Amino acid sequence: MDSVLRVQGRIDSRTLLITTAALSLTGWTVHALALHRKLAATRKDPLTGLLRRDAYTARARRLLARHGDDTTVVMVDADKFKEINDSLGHAAGDTVLASIAARLTAWAGPRAAIGRLGGDEFAVILELTADRRVQRLAQLVRMLHTPVTLDDGRTVAVAASVGAATPDVIGARDLTRLQRAADAALYDGKHSGRAVLATAVHAKTPSINGRRAGRPGTAMWGRAA
Ligand code: GH3
Ligand code: MG
Repeated sequence: MDSVLRVQGRIDSRTLLITTAALSLTGWTVHALALHRKLAATRKDPLTGLLRRDAYTARARRLLARHGDDTTVVMVDADKFKEINDSLGHAAGDTVLASIAARLTAWAGPRAAIGRLGGDEFAVILELTADRRVQRLAQLVRMLHTPVTLDDGRTVAVAASVGAATPDVIGARDLTRLQRAADAALYDGKHSGRAVLATAVHAKTPSINGRRAGRPGTAMWGRAA
């Protein structure tokens, strides 16, 4: 009888130990998961689900290092977006921003880095070989000019400007320089309905708060008729 009680006592204390260990492990796992989720949330813009600037930049640099000259940096800014906010309301503006984000994601694919840099400004970095750039940029412009349907069924005409830069043309694999050149190209073709691929001139043109003045000679690709 004594030995039965001793065995039972040993089993009980072992069970207690295992249960305690399992519980604290579960506790830590839940805690770690919650932390991971919180961290992931701080990396993403809540409205669009795209990466915020810092997270985008880190991922963009990795892609640039991996794909080198086959990388394309694309900057996008919605056209006359304030008018959408003013005429249809902020909620409609939010829907348009979310639609732009969804279109950029569909266009660029899962391996790209896509960020919302602020307001109505977005950046994409992806592997895109020279022979496909023109056709793919024209495709993006078409997608970004497709009307957006709001939750209440109303349709909004939308437009966005697109500038792109590539290391082979710019002569640098530095993300900041490429983004500046792509931004200069974007503002060169602002409201034109055409994507502008940056030349070496765009890379050298000084910018004012990322916005440049002047129009160097450029190549543009527009929407299909
Ligand atoms: P442009 O054609 O020259 O690009 O001008 P724009 O009217 O598109 O205006 P701009 O790019 O200069 O400014 C972007 C505006 O986007 C300013 C701000 O009121 C609005 N905005 C910024 N963040 C949000 C947001 O989260 N939701 C909504 N609805 N509007 C936003
Ligand atoms: Mg804008």
